[in-house]
Amino acid sequence: MSYFIDTHCHLHDREFFTENQAEAMLKTAKSRGVEQIVCIGTSHEDSLNAKDFAKLHKDIFWTYGIHPESSNNYNIKCEKSNKLIAIGEIGLDYHYSGYNRSAQIKLFEQMLQLSIDLGLPCSFHVRDALPDFFAVIKNFSNIKPSVLHSFSDSKENLEYALSHGFYIGINGLATFANLSCYKDLTSDFIDRCVLETDAPFLTPYPNRGKINEPGNIADIARWLSHKLGVSEAKVAEKTTKNARKIFHIPNPKSAESSARAELS
Ligand SMILES: [Zn+2]
Repeated sequence: MSYFIDTHCHLHDREFFTENQAEAMLKTAKSRGVEQIVCIGTSHEDSLNAKDFAKLHKDIFWTYGIHPESSNNYNIKCEKSNKLIAIGEIGLDYHYSGYNRSAQIKLFEQMLQLSIDLGLPCSFHVRDALPDFFAVIKNFSNIKPSVLHSFSDSKENLEYALSHGFYIGINGLATFANLSCYKDLTSDFIDRCVLETDAPFLTPYPNRGKINEPGNIADIARWLSHKLGVSEAKVAEKTTKNARKIFHIPNPKSAESSARAELS
């Protein structure tokens, strides 16, 4: 059995999932090998909801983030906390007209500083804004190795991101959107990516049209396995290892085995 980590989803968000739905989806996720899940905050309040949800489930972790779309109205208040594994999602999003570039950059800089103050990696949301993203981040020297979530930019920018130490979050978008950045990937890409669903969004093939859920990580893993020509077991092993390294998510198996060793 392969074990996966969903490194980016919104299962705690009651705007999208009822409590019962979320619990049922957690069961499905387990049955499909998704062992641990990261719930991503998009505002102060939403991050605290993610925190509360993580408190109820030992295999759920949370992040504190303020989405760039909230750059006109937000408050930031975050301290080190149990199961808080990253700052995110944070970044820049120039996709829809009417965005406020300077307000987004100001918020992004504050959130980057927060990640440095807390010594945490980031989950970045960047859309149609990579040049500004790279320009801003250059001014911060102590950022932990972090993930560019839902990467869909050019091949050239993918190469740039990889050569500058970023990890890439692969989700359902890759399975249906025929993105040019994922053409001609070589098998060593497996050392530089993590899996994510971004549930409820971006449902992967073959479940397009349904609400997305963490269990669908298995479908994204299958796509990546075909794409890179490596086994699904290898995809699971490597992406889980990468997620543990970046986000310091504990391995429940080794915790169990070390507890057993202490008892014997
Ligand atoms: Zn998201």
